[in-house]
Amino acid sequence: MDHFLYRDGALHAEDVPVSEIAAAVGTPFYVYSTATLTRHFQLFQDALSGLDHTICFAMKSLSNQAVLKTLADLGAGMDVVSGGEYARAVAAGVPGDRIVFSGVGKTREEMTQALQGGIRQFNVESEPEMETLSAVATELGRTAPITIRVNPDVDAKTHAKIATGKSENKFGIPISRAREVYARAAALPGLEVVGIDVHIGSQLTDIEPFRTAFTKVADLTRALRAEGHDIRRLDLGGGLGIPYTRVNEAPPLPFDYGAMIRETVGDLGCEIEIEPGRLISGNAGLLVSRVIYVKSGEDREFLILDGAMNDLLRPAMYDAHHDIVPVVEPAPGADTSAYDVVGPVCESGDTFAKGRHLPQLGAGDLVAFRSAGAYGAVMASEYNTRPLIPEVLVKGDQFAVIRPRPTFDEIIARDKLPEWL
Ligand SMILES: *Cc1c(COP(=O)(O)O)cnc(C)c1O
Repeated sequence: MDHFLYRDGALHAEDVPVSEIAAAVGTPFYVYSTATLTRHFQLFQDALSGLDHTICFAMKSLSNQAVLKTLADLGAGMDVVSGGEYARAVAAGVPGDRIVFSGVGKTREEMTQALQGGIRQFNVESEPEMETLSAVATELGRTAPITIRVNPDVDAKTHAKIATGKSENKFGIPISRAREVYARAAALPGLEVVGIDVHIGSQLTDIEPFRTAFTKVADLTRALRAEGHDIRRLDLGGGLGIPYTRVNEAPPLPFDYGAMIRETVGDLGCEIEIEPGRLISGNAGLLVSRVIYVKSGEDREFLILDGAMNDLLRPAMYDAHHDIVPVVEPAPGADTSAYDVVGPVCESGDTFAKGRHLPQLGAGDLVAFRSAGAYGAVMASEYNTRPLIPEVLVKGDQFAVIRPRPTFDEIIARDKLPEWL
């Protein structure tokens, strides 16, 4: 559920008419709901209540500092995957001991940055990384707390580009080699092994792959403890899917996910960490765009918007579906047309939807892409020298621009001409 509803015939973000934001900031733009972010975070808190747990928001899904601060103020930690994300989390006021560092390619610089700034743990993904981290920590006179990410070889049954838990994926170490790798980690001077990490993919709409993976993690916990490792923390990753359409989609609820966590790993006495991204941020955001032209093709109508693939990449990248709704509520039973919904970028892949049935729209009308909070603004680029679009945060009847639209001058000034040119 979210807080983007029609009221008096107009789409609202909480108590603010979306058209009012469009008039103030121009289109296209992203708008996020504080109430939805809060509600989704709270659902995980409730689902894990009674367990010693920490929720580290996967900030790669939506990393504006205003969003990070909203969640951090509720007690969230952050899952970061780069030095840039680490710096952003710290800038948003997240204490180092609530930041976990994931990713297959951490550099020595990133390790140094996190060790000096404070870190809850590194989720280590390979033996070379383990050795580098130990060396970096030793040079700094510190000990790096680590989990090792295991790859459980489980089919997450999601889009191939976001499945991460099969043996052919680049992530983690094969679970079959875990005991050997843990023994090596324990022997390295700069590391303190605190637990196990697993993350099998994103947009999972079935709970069973999680159950299979977490059962393997529980077995591994017992095996590693028997060999003397003090496994006291389990990072179970993120990945819980969200409904992208209003019909026929019922991904598992956080409550059921929490129950499954209790069943699989709840009796081990471990501290539980989870790293949800999409479920917290996805339905907390809209992309709002304006129709520039309605163009008649030979056999179809094109709805040409001012938003494009560089603003919201998911349809081009993953063939993702986003519901598109008019900002003015259509009258009940109003006529619809089938549109190919496209942006102005010079690529045929700049297509948001084909043959989408929408109420009839004309130039100047506003539309909103639903479920655009996660992997939306963060994946945007300036392709075609289109400025990164503004982000707006709503709370009740207030809204604020949390990232302004850059001017052309600001964008162009980043290029430097060499003296010899
Ligand atoms: C992307 C990612 C997540 C978050 O995934 P969601 O599907 O957005 O919940 C969590 N952990 C790791 C390691 C990730 O790479």
